[in-house]
Amino acid sequence: MADYDYDLFVIGAGSGGVRASRIAASYGAKVAVAEEHRIGGTCVIRGCVPKKLLVYGSHFAEELQDASHYGWTVEGMSFDWATLRDTVLRDVDRLEAAYTSTLDTNKVEHFHERATVAGPHAVRLASGREVSAKYILIAVGAWPVKPDFPGNEHCITSNEVFHLEKLPKRVVVQGAGYIAMEFAGIFNALGCHVTVVNRSETLLRGYDATLRDRLLQITMARGIEYKFNCPITKVEKQADGGLMVTVGTHDPIPADIVLVATGRSPKTAGLGLESAGITLGEKGEIPVDEFSKTTCDSIYAVGDVTDRVQLTPIAIREGHAFADTVFGGTPRSTAYDCVPSAVFSQPPLAAVGLTESQARNTHGNVKIFTSDFRAMKNIFASRHERGLYKLVVDAGTDRILGIHMIGPDAPEILQAAAIAVRAGLTKADFDATVALHPSMAEELVLMR
Ligand code: NDP
Repeated sequence: MADYDYDLFVIGAGSGGVRASRIAASYGAKVAVAEEHRIGGTCVIRGCVPKKLLVYGSHFAEELQDASHYGWTVEGMSFDWATLRDTVLRDVDRLEAAYTSTLDTNKVEHFHERATVAGPHAVRLASGREVSAKYILIAVGAWPVKPDFPGNEHCITSNEVFHLEKLPKRVVVQGAGYIAMEFAGIFNALGCHVTVVNRSETLLRGYDATLRDRLLQITMARGIEYKFNCPITKVEKQADGGLMVTVGTHDPIPADIVLVATGRSPKTAGLGLESAGITLGEKGEIPVDEFSKTTCDSIYAVGDVTDRVQLTPIAIREGHAFADTVFGGTPRSTAYDCVPSAVFSQPPLAAVGLTESQARNTHGNVKIFTSDFRAMKNIFASRHERGLYKLVVDAGTDRILGIHMIGPDAPEILQAAAIAVRAGLTKADFDATVALHPSMAEELVLMR
């Protein structure tokens, strides 16, 4: 390996890149990583982490409202967006420092500039310096896509939403996927008027239909308005600084911000992959094999840039498996079945395994068990929202094929239940498990 400057050069210090760097270095490799934005990547800097903190922050509205039922008097209740925003951004700084220190502790050299591929073993840094590496790992992630319509320059994406100067009164969210539903929930809870506009009539495509319907029902009751089958056709800036959003034949919608959340594309533009003979896929993604190797033997890619499953824990697993395979002498690939996922909408939704319709298509004969219940804390606070859990069971083998949940703390509960699905447990195993009472999670073992 002495012929190269580095054993491994990683482009992108997000979840996948940092994990791969650290593990490869622990195997004795000489590693460097380049990052053009901030160390930590989407999840830490402008994704999962700050988003979850905003969800927590906005959820206090509900808790404070309900508090009187539990005997509390809350006087002079008020909310200050700048305080929440700045505290969240300080936590992002803390995490960026922690990620940087992980790289330092593991003796991973880091370059704070853009890097591109200049050949199978060559990386060009923005400063003009060119370095060589036995292996190159691309972990540059994905970037929000804005559909093309007049005035889209007035719209923001999830990159900017964490930095708003003040809390908007009227929010239009385009899209009805993960980011749209999570921010619609945050702004709604903070008292903004939220309108979700989507090009189709489906929200959260890929999730079980029964849960999606329940989320729609609850969020409409909470005041979120929906306009389906109508993509935005234009956004105009008004004299008072506000925005006017035209969607289909509906009356234009006035807004203070328009958040576009219409998917994220692999960030491969200008990355120089052609210099290593790598051809991008249709969506700009880097095609890789099960070990994350591209068509060039010395170049690998992990995380969102490969567009396999755009989730942080998957990028981390892919990065770790890459380092084990190439530097640890233990070839490992990542399993994509039974990946649990959650939408931190309000209420949240979580799922693992097959939806009812997927299971009917693949297994034919399936049994469905549901629990439609009002959480104890909701009954006590006179909230009418109901949780819904669904088990999808293979009628022939009794094996649990999928679990789908909407209700308070659903993601926290589902993580443990996902182990059972992964392990191939049966409905009889669930039935034989004693309920933990009183809890919402006990519904999982009480469905008959
Ligand atoms: P999603 O893929 O979840 O949703 C995209 C939404 O935008 C859909 O409603 C889709 O409509 C609509 N859409 C897509 N293209 C267009 C277009 N050209 N014009 C108008 N509407 C369009 O994307 P997000 O941006 O919300 O999130 C990106 C990814 O980030 C997610 O897929 C997820 O993997 C990850 N993520 C995960 C989170 C989590 O784990 N909790 C949180 C946030 C993001 P339709 O369905 O009708 O086609």
